[in-house]
This record gives sequence, C-alpha cells and structure tokens, in this order.
Amino acid sequence: MPDTQSFGRFFLPGPTEVLPEILDALRGPMVGHRAKAMEELIASVQPGLQAIFRTERPVYISTSSSTGLMEAAVRNGALRRVLSLVNGAFSERFYRIAEATGLHTEALVVEWGEVNTPEALVDALRVGDFDAVTVVHSETSTGVLNPIRELAQVCHQAGDVVLLVDSVSGAGGTRLETDAWELDVVLTGSQKALALPPGLAFAVANERILLRAERKKDRGVYFDFLEFEKNIRKNQTPNTPAVSLFYALAAQMRRIQAEGVEARWARHAAMAETTYRWVDDMRSRGYPLAVLAPEGFRSPTVTCIVLPEGVSGSEVTRRVKERGFTIATGYGKLKESTIRIGHMGEHTVAETEAVLSVVEEVLRR
Ligand SMILES: *Cc1c(COP(=O)(O)O)cnc(C)c1O
Repeated sequence: MPDTQSFGRFFLPGPTEVLPEILDALRGPMVGHRAKAMEELIASVQPGLQAIFRTERPVYISTSSSTGLMEAAVRNGALRRVLSLVNGAFSERFYRIAEATGLHTEALVVEWGEVNTPEALVDALRVGDFDAVTVVHSETSTGVLNPIRELAQVCHQAGDVVLLVDSVSGAGGTRLETDAWELDVVLTGSQKALALPPGLAFAVANERILLRAERKKDRGVYFDFLEFEKNIRKNQTPNTPAVSLFYALAAQMRRIQAEGVEARWARHAAMAETTYRWVDDMRSRGYPLAVLAPEGFRSPTVTCIVLPEGVSGSEVTRRVKERGFTIATGYGKLKESTIRIGHMGEHTVAETEAVLSVVEEVLRR
C-alpha cells in the first residue's frame, strides 16, 4: 500500500490525492437507496454541487466515471448533427463518443496545445447545419483552457445549437458559470479538481436539453437525463448509487463550502502561477522548459510542460517517483516530449513548490 500519511506528494492530473479524512468518510454504514437517510444525504450535497457549477438547477449525480456522462450529454442533447471541437485527447474522445452514438459527427481539429477559438466556430456553424457542439473546458492532455463562455455565445447566436461541455478537470478548480454563461450541459467527475475518489460523475442539463431528450427515443436507460431529473427532484438517483462514495462526497462538499468556491479557484490559480514562474525561472537560468498552452488560455488545474530535446517524460517521472513524488508523463503522442503536473484538488502552493523542486533536482542531474 502507498503511504497514506504524507499528503502532498501525488500530483497526477487525475485521479488526484484524497485527504485521509475524506477517505475515512467512506466507512459510513450501508443504507437502502430509497431510505430517508439516503435522501437526506443527497439533499445535503446539492448546495455544494450547485455552488461549484454556479447553477440554480439540480446537479445530477451518476455512479459512473465522467465518460458515462459524456455519452449521456450526446445521447440526450444532440439531435442529428454534432460538431466536436478537438484540441487534445479528451476532446477527441468526446468526438469518438458522439460518432459511436450513430449521429453524423464532424470534428474541428486544431493542434494539441492550441485553443478552440470562437472565430473558427462561427465559420464552422455557418456551413455545417449542426445542432450540437462538444467541447472540453480544461483539456487535461495539454493544459489548455478553452473559452467556453464565448463558444456558448457563438452556438446560441447561430440558432438552435447547444453546447455540451466536458469540465472534468475544470469544475471546482477554475471559474465555471453554468447559468450565467448559458451552458446547456456541463459535466464533471469526482476524481479531478473535486479531490474525491473515482466513481462518481456530475452533470447539469438545462431545459433546452430536457426538451430535446423528450424527443429522442434512443437515449438509452442508464444515462437518461429525464430519469436523473425526475429522481433528483425527490433527492433520489435512478439506480443504486455508490453509497460509500456519497458519504465522501458529503464530507468533501462541507470542506469546499468552508473554503468557498471562489477561494478554491484562487488557490488553483496561485498553484498554476507558481508553476509558470518556475518554468520561466528555469528557462532564464539556461534550462529550456516551456508551458505548452498559450498565455491567457492555460488551465489552472494542470500544466503540460515541454521538455528539451532528448529528455524523456517517462524517465523524468520515474526519477521523480524515486524521490517519493508522483507526476504524469505527457498524454498519448506527447508522452515522452512533455510532463504534466496536476496542481489540483486539495494541494497548496507550498506543496506545488515542493514537487517542482524535486522535478528541478531530477532535471538538473
Ligand atoms: C479525466 C477526464 C475524462 C475522463 O474521465 P473518466 O472519469 O476517466 O471517465 C474526460 N475528460 C477530461 C477533460 C478528463 O480530464
């Protein structure tokens, strides 16, 4: 078993490190999933979840990983023709999911590390007759933060086009305004910036999506938003929920509300700034590192750092591991040329400085 005592050494961009006291909450007793106690538990987590999503709507809680709700977003919210904005591995996954549901799907692809711009979306919507657009808010494979507020405006100005947002590594770590930005579906998972164990996923769907879902006869069973909507109104879930994870969720919602959602965003921004400053500092001292994502479009939860020619991502992460810290290699085709640091969840600036100094020690050897 890994050492659970020394919090602050595990910096994967998901799953993220979970505090011991949150893990302790998993030990709550089993209750029937239609029991009063379960309804009270579900009711108790709604205000925290709504604060994270910044919504007045109910937040659905799914016993699945986030990929399940990516599929749900398409099955419930897309009618005929989907445009997927692709700028990395997870947005490509969203494209493949849309395609797998049998809808006509096209991808608007930019290089990994680049941003999906509103301008390009305007042009694509003008010609494509799309009714739904998929996008990833914080692209965990590259550290790029997409301008989803502007992308949502473009969709809505184009007519009856909905925006389906994967904010799996965004929600809880960076500003997300589901209602104010008029996002049609937003989904996230438990094991990223929310710093919970894997196994739960969360989504908000607006009225427009529910009206579409009513028209779709092939939206499936497990991820039917109409079932989620009906059940959450009674503080229930459609099927047996992962009861133990709900105890951890309740404990973590209390923590997040005590910190405050905006304070949480600010802490993530500070950790990200610390990382960018370190990269700049290394470069100014002759060690050529770079942040992959362009300035102004960087996710506060994860940084993808480009290594110099000849330095291997898996070698660096292995040596960092020998020193007791965990970071990630690059993702997919960026595996060897980059490393990724997930400064998200419950980590602090001090812990971020600690992991960066270990990475520095490894790189300078
Ligand atoms: C982790 C991640 C996913 C996939 O989440 P699962 O919980 O493994 O299904 C999807 N999108 C993004 C942006 C992610 O970071």
